[in-house]
Amino acid sequence: MTSPLRVAVVGSGPAGIYASDLLVKSEVDVKVDLFEKMPAPFGLIRYGVAPDHPRIKGIVQSLHNVMEKEDIRFLGNIEIGRDVTVEELQDYYDAVIFATGATADRLVNIPGEDLEDVHGAGEFVGFYDGNPNFKRDWDLSAESVAVIGVGNVSLDVSRILAKTADELLVTEIPDNVYQTLKTNRAKEIHVFGRRGPAQAKYTPKELKELDESPTIEVIVDPEDIDYDAASEEARRATKSTDLVCQTLEGYAMRETKGAPHKLYIHFFEAPVEILGKDGKVTGLKTERTELDGTGQVNGTGKFTEWPVQAVYSAVGYHPQDVEGVPYDEEKAVIPNDGGHVLRDNGGEKIPGLYTTGWIKRGPVGLIGNTKSDAKDTTSMLLADHLAGELTEATKRDPQDILDLLASRDIAVTTWEGWHRLDAAERAAGEPQERERVKIVEWDDMVRYAGPQDK
Ligand SMILES: Cc1cc2nc3c(=O)[nH]c(=O)nc-3n(C[C@H](O)[C@H](O)[C@H](O)COP(=O)(O)OP(=O)(O)OC[C@H]3O[C@@H](n4cnc5c(N)ncnc54)[C@H](O)[C@@H]3O)c2cc1C
Repeated sequence: MTSPLRVAVVGSGPAGIYASDLLVKSEVDVKVDLFEKMPAPFGLIRYGVAPDHPRIKGIVQSLHNVMEKEDIRFLGNIEIGRDVTVEELQDYYDAVIFATGATADRLVNIPGEDLEDVHGAGEFVGFYDGNPNFKRDWDLSAESVAVIGVGNVSLDVSRILAKTADELLVTEIPDNVYQTLKTNRAKEIHVFGRRGPAQAKYTPKELKELDESPTIEVIVDPEDIDYDAASEEARRATKSTDLVCQTLEGYAMRETKGAPHKLYIHFFEAPVEILGKDGKVTGLKTERTELDGTGQVNGTGKFTEWPVQAVYSAVGYHPQDVEGVPYDEEKAVIPNDGGHVLRDNGGEKIPGLYTTGWIKRGPVGLIGNTKSDAKDTTSMLLADHLAGELTEATKRDPQDILDLLASRDIAVTTWEGWHRLDAAERAAGEPQERERVKIVEWDDMVRYAGPQDK
């Protein structure tokens, strides 16, 4: 095969960037074009991780260093499957890796989900993280709010709802988000998990951090601390599960500190219906559950109605499929064998197509997990290359794809452009001694990061 190997990576979240890094660091001479549908890189690090988690945002710095490598070219504001088809992409690249993540909300599927003031957590995250694909205003008039789900996204959403706008002003939130958060009237946040503390999907550090805000009182009912044999086994087997249980026990046993915003974490309450009147939320009905010995729960037939005026569902994310790539609706992944894309589940491999990150194994796990994912996928791709199993692209000149994009009048954003956007966001933060203030509007981002001659 003609050198260098030309690879397209689709999606510039951590999975795509780690995969690009591993490819260009390998023994093989590889050039990567990293395609991104948003004008800016970094996927859910920019548009998912909560603004009051600057430590995690710091990962951006190491990804930034990867993107500086000259064998990686960032091509943003291009949606693969829409602006360029997957079939076309294969004319320009010897292999394609899909690292397209998951950004849509999964629903809880209970009656009442169509009421006003029922939101997917992802929509709210999109709002406060300044994602231009989501609406830019938010009704925060509810004094009592329910959040369904006991994972890290639920923690993020309930923490942002429970903090004051001024606590968040040190972060990168755009001005309209700050102004909207100032109107937040939430006094009580009720978080619901259908199983127990040992089944919660929190990471210990994030759960502990919840209590650091002086305005948040985390409250757990001692009745909700319960373990069966499988839960005890889970605590023994996994340190993080045990730490989460210890922290929750601590919240259940301590004296209250008197903070103004109460954040209740309820276990063994399965949401069964969102109650409403005149299209508005008036409450959430849950059924008490109990452990069955295997870590699963059964309903007890005891129901409670919680008077809340808004419901956020944080039960997981769902990918948006890419036109031209197989998609397994049930598992919410691109069907694959260790990263090699399959025609369908259990079907044959499609030569030259690979996948990594959340779209490969489902929307669970932290940024760090995408690193090992990327290693498996890129090792497979490189082994296939060395075994002569890739079909050589016919349009190999790096300019060829740029010509195609120009012929379609696409305002491609680049890595140099990201530097300009980054500098503009940092400059906007300077007067308030904030690291940055995010630029939200799509056209504004393209104005900085896109072509400069228009
Ligand atoms: C709300 C939230 C908070 C989180 N907080 C943390 C945290 O604090 N710490 C932590 O470690 N992890 C956190 N995570 C998890 C972390 O974000 C994921 O592990 C990680 O982002 C997954 O990486 P990815 O690259 O697979 O997907 P993504 O980060 O989603 O990246 C996928 C990229 O592909 C692009 N794309 C999609 N389709 C196309 C297409 N057709 N053409 C071109 N580009 C496309 C998307 O725009 C996106 O940029 C959080 C997740 C969420 C949802």
